[in-house]
Amino acid sequence: MPLIPMYQCLKEAEKGGYGVGAFNVNNMEQIQGIMKAAREMQSPVILQASRGALKYTDLTYLKHLVQAAVEQNPDIPVVLHLDHGDSLETVKTAISLGFTSVMIDGSHYDFETNVAISREVVEYAHEHGVSVEAELGTLGGIEEDVAGEVKLTDPDQAEEFVARVGCDALAVAIGTSHGAYKFKAEPKLALDLISEIYRRVKIPLVMHGSSSVPKELVDVVNAYGGKIENSFGVPIESIQQGISNGVRKINVDTDIRLAMTGAIRKVLFEDPSKFDPRDYLAPAREAVYRLVAQRMKDFGSAGHAKDYAPMTLDDMKAIYKRA
Ligand SMILES: [Zn+2]
Repeated sequence: MPLIPMYQCLKEAEKGGYGVGAFNVNNMEQIQGIMKAAREMQSPVILQASRGALKYTDLTYLKHLVQAAVEQNPDIPVVLHLDHGDSLETVKTAISLGFTSVMIDGSHYDFETNVAISREVVEYAHEHGVSVEAELGTLGGIEEDVAGEVKLTDPDQAEEFVARVGCDALAVAIGTSHGAYKFKAEPKLALDLISEIYRRVKIPLVMHGSSSVPKELVDVVNAYGGKIENSFGVPIESIQQGISNGVRKINVDTDIRLAMTGAIRKVLFEDPSKFDPRDYLAPAREAVYRLVAQRMKDFGSAGHAKDYAPMTLDDMKAIYKRA
């Protein structure tokens, strides 16, 4: 299966009443671990790369790693998505690399500027058949250099925003937060807000900052010499409620980082004489696989890989032209 547009992936998820995990990737082992999970769970999957990931992988490497993933998994619908694109320039780079979806994050600007920047990206991306996620409202925490204060998404503004921007998916701020240090206690998410926004905008919603920071993963890191203060992530049950209220894309990054770091620390702690990277990267890859497979079950996407035939970006161009 070629890479599919995110538009199709999320529309199908809407039909099927499930959510699709969007997992951040930076290297081969992460991509392989995620793809093994998708294959075994028979799940559609969104691979996403931030600007940091593009820089880290020097663009071309990421492109070809994802091509390898697609080539090796012809039955799995895969979306390649730009996470937190900051400008039309970054979006153009991603599209030139073959990304089938981009995010433009203008959420830290004022409303009118966010509309203008996002609209410009939608026009360019849709001409290329590429899907667009935009964001309204701000999350807490830090991701890349995106930091700021929390401002929950306002449903009135969301309705106007989506009507004027024409994006395919909307990232909403409902009380989640980026990073591993999210909350001091079990968080209370604004779940009513999700259903209200969804009712108004009628497009798939996206939850950022949705790692669960499972205690088991933090415990492994700390048991083998790590030092991560205890912290709460977003409980799986809250994400599942989000999914039943209109969330279709769930971003997971921190949990993958924790799973890999724990696995690597364990190997090196237990046998300090080891120095072959394969000795610790293979267990790290397995840890990614286990985590992602669990999330595919949690989000309900498992078993949905063969529900539909892939659409191409040319199909999408025709759809956008008619709209
Ligand atoms: Zn994010």
